[in-house]
Amino acid sequence: MTGDATKSPFERLKQYYDTEALSCPDCGYADTDGEWETETNGRVVEYHHECPTCGTLQQHTVHLDEA
Ligand SMILES: [Zn+2]
Repeated sequence: MTGDATKSPFERLKQYYDTEALSCPDCGYADTDGEWETETNGRVVEYHHECPTCGTLQQHTVHLDEA
């Protein structure tokens, strides 16, 4: 990622996933109305997105202290 000092790593990741990563890797369906569900415990953020077409579950885990 390129540096953008005005946003935190978390915000940049959220923006990335919201805009770039909602296309299913299996069937290619672009869930333009979808969004990632997030869970966090303050140190780790887990992103989940289930493809509405084929049901493939995408998951990303981001460690905030390593971002
Ligand atoms: Zn799919």
